[in-house]
Amino acid sequence: MKKIVILIIILLINISFSQITNEQLHDIANKLNYIYGSNITVQIYPTPLGAMATGQGLVFIDPYFIQNESYEAIFGVLAHEWAHETLGHIPQVFLQQWMLGNNIYETNLFNQQKELEADYYAGRALKMYNLPLQPFLNVLIKYNSSSDYTHPYLRSHPSTQERIEAATKGYNSI
Ligand SMILES: [Zn+2]
Repeated sequence: MKKIVILIIILLINISFSQITNEQLHDIANKLNYIYGSNITVQIYPTPLGAMATGQGLVFIDPYFIQNESYEAIFGVLAHEWAHETLGHIPQVFLQQWMLGNNIYETNLFNQQKELEADYYAGRALKMYNLPLQPFLNVLIKYNSSSDYTHPYLRSHPSTQERIEAATKGYNSI
């Protein structure tokens, strides 16, 4: 009996702290697969950057994001990862290297170009489903800004301003 009560409490905490349900997460995945013409699976798994494309038809999203961000914000974040996955941005060795604990983020401008491309497509995807852009931009402001003052060659992602411009350009392209 005691165990059941504890279990119910845990379930309630989970529900009240999660912004989106599992069903909504899979709804996002289905919508993205439809517009990207892909067959990608999303899995809740801890990643240092909030979300991560693996190059293997699998995208990870951090449990923290699921608990703290809205449907629209997560939609934008996943649309960004879907773009990496479908545009062949992720080298085949990526997942293996990550599993081995190696640093997988080559910090060069070419990779930053890929990030801007993924942001552009995230903006487009949001517009295709008539979702607002601002929640995704807020995520960029919240999580990307900490590296804005790092030298461009030393950061994995472009500056927040560049990312906002790329996502907005994508959003306005339709
Ligand atoms: Zn990215």
